[in-house]
Amino acid sequence: MYISIKCPTTTCIAHLSPNGNVIKKGYYKTKYNSQHNPRYFCKCCKKHFSTHTNFETYKQKRPDLNEDIYNLINSGVGIRRIAKLLKCSTRTIQDKIIWLGKVCRDYHEDYLTNGLLQAEFVGFDEQESYIHTRLQPVSLIIASYKTSKTIPAKNKRGFKIIHKPKIIDIQVEDFLAKGHLAKIFQEQLSLGLLPPRTDTRRRGYFKVLHSVKKVISKSGTLVSDQKRAYNLVVASILPTITHSQFLSRKVMGNTGEKEAIQSINFACANMRTYISRLQRKSWCNSKSKEYLQAVVDIHICFNNEYSFSDILKGFNSDKLVS
Ligand SMILES: [Zn+2]
Repeated sequence: MYISIKCPTTTCIAHLSPNGNVIKKGYYKTKYNSQHNPRYFCKCCKKHFSTHTNFETYKQKRPDLNEDIYNLINSGVGIRRIAKLLKCSTRTIQDKIIWLGKVCRDYHEDYLTNGLLQAEFVGFDEQESYIHTRLQPVSLIIASYKTSKTIPAKNKRGFKIIHKPKIIDIQVEDFLAKGHLAKIFQEQLSLGLLPPRTDTRRRGYFKVLHSVKKVISKSGTLVSDQKRAYNLVVASILPTITHSQFLSRKVMGNTGEKEAIQSINFACANMRTYISRLQRKSWCNSKSKEYLQAVVDIHICFNNEYSFSDILKGFNSDKLVS
C-alpha cells in the first residue's frame, strides 16, 4: 500500500523518502472522543508513530478544550468558572494555561522576528497589578501601536474605520510595595510569611524595548510618560528614534503621538476588562508570576488576532512566500 506519511525522526532516511519504508500498523483510540487513529511503522528506524506524533498537542488528554480555554481566558472568565463551564478540573486549566502561554509566546516572538508587525509610532507604559496580595505588586510593562482597518458598512460613507491596538510585548516584573504596605511587607518578611523580593522592572524594560526594536522604523517615535528610568534604557537600545515624553496618558502631541497614547489606553483597558485577574475589585488573582505572564502571553495573541490553528501549527516561514 502506498503511504506518503513521513517518519517523524529527522535523522531517518524515511523522513525524506517515505515511499515503501512506512507501513500502516494498527490503530489507537483517543480517550476524549474515542476516535480511531491509524498508527504507522517505519521499517528503517523500527519506530511506531501516528499522525499526531509531531503535533503541539501530542500526548494531551483533552486537546479538544484548548481553543475554548484560549477564548474564555480572554473573555473575563476566571479559571474556576472555566473549569465549571467545560466540565473539567481546575488543574487541567492551570496546566493548559502554562502550555498555551508557552506556545503563544513562541508564536508571537517568531511573528516579531519575521518583521510582520511594523510601526512608526509606538506607545510604552506600565500597569500595576499584584501577585496574591497587594504586598507583592507587579508591573505589566507594555508596548503597543495603533492600526486602522477600513471595512464596508451600511452608513452614508459606505465604509467604517476600525481602530485597534496591536500589542508588541508585555512583561510582568516585580517591584516593591510603597507607603504603609512596605512596612507590613517587612513585618511579614521577618516572620517568613512572604518570600524576599527585588525590583526587576529594569530587566522588563530591556526585554520589551528589544521587542519594540523589531517593530519600530529607524526614524520612528516612542511615546511614554516622564519616568526617568526610561531615558537611559531607551537611549541604549533605540538610539536612532525620537523619544517623546508626556506628563500623563492624556491625549496630546501630534497625530502619530496621540495614536500611540490611544493604543496604550485601549490595550490597558482591554486587559483590565477581558483578563479576570486584572479586573479591579475582582475575586480572581494570580498566585504566581509565571501564571500571570502566561495569561498575558495568551492575551497578546488574542488581541493581535492570530488564528488559533496557526498558533498551534507554529510559525512556518514558507507560508510567507505564497
Ligand atoms: Zn524512520
